[in-house]
Amino acid sequence: MQDTKALLQLQAVSRCYQSAWAKDTIIENLSLDIAPNKMTVVIGPSGCGKSTLINLIAGFEKPDSGEILLEGKPVKGPSHERMVVFQESALMPWLNVYENIIFGPKLRKERSMAEIKAEAEALLEKVGLSVFAQQYPRQLSGGMQRRAELARALINSPQLMLMDEPFRGLDALSHELMQDFFLKLFEETRNTCLFVTSEVDEAILLADQLAILSNRPAQVRAVLDIDLPRPRTQEILNSPEAYAYKRQALELLYEEALKNFQREGKPDDFLEAYSQQEGRHS
Ligand code: ADP
Ligand code: MG
Repeated sequence: MQDTKALLQLQAVSRCYQSAWAKDTIIENLSLDIAPNKMTVVIGPSGCGKSTLINLIAGFEKPDSGEILLEGKPVKGPSHERMVVFQESALMPWLNVYENIIFGPKLRKERSMAEIKAEAEALLEKVGLSVFAQQYPRQLSGGMQRRAELARALINSPQLMLMDEPFRGLDALSHELMQDFFLKLFEETRNTCLFVTSEVDEAILLADQLAILSNRPAQVRAVLDIDLPRPRTQEILNSPEAYAYKRQALELLYEEALKNFQREGKPDDFLEAYSQQEGRHS
């Protein structure tokens, strides 16, 4: 069945950074399948390598080993088929909201300006920003900026939406409102999405499939199917089913945090790097 085939496959992906002292493995042998028309959420503690993972899939960086396949074909570099919505606003401050949204398609010239304009207007309506089309990013609230970002990504009809903690930093109320808005949008469009977060409630609220990352080097520790009915609202988090998923996810995350905590006291990494460095001089 077409539906069960993965849209994106991460196969034993590894990524290291070389520092002056040592080679730092951020992601090691990470494998994950992203199903089409589903919301896959990746959760892991801050610093575990989530943004690195997004950058690899977006094609901003290359894996040191392993493969990233979109519909079976290796990802070679950035493309508008994989759009990223970042933690920090990536809107261009010198362009107004409308100009920001049409920027990509206008540059590529694949469609007529009339077509692009019509779609931008429909999207502005969808994200509730029609009235603000001529405003500049700095004139918008945090939540409005994120909605403009969503429209900017969606106008490219990406096969895969990559969301890197997009609602982090918003105040609590705007955060919930954006989650509600984003849920509704996803449930209408069923655009395949990989959503990265470090918050368990957000993960359970959004996910069809929840991948829990291990500590660094990041691997997929577990994948939970979040079998909660849609459409969803914040209310669903009060259900016993959601609570059970939350417990399960927290237990796994807690185990990972504990491992990290126990490791922190030991200067193993430093000593290893130091002895390697010393070895060079002898
Ligand atoms: P997360 O998004 O989960 O918080 P990141 O992917 O941003 O984690 O970072 C994971 C680790 O990789 C961090 O320790 C960070 O310092 C390191 N890192 C990220 N990018 C680079 C880079 N370009 N060079 C060296 N180290 C990096
Ligand atoms: Mg990050």
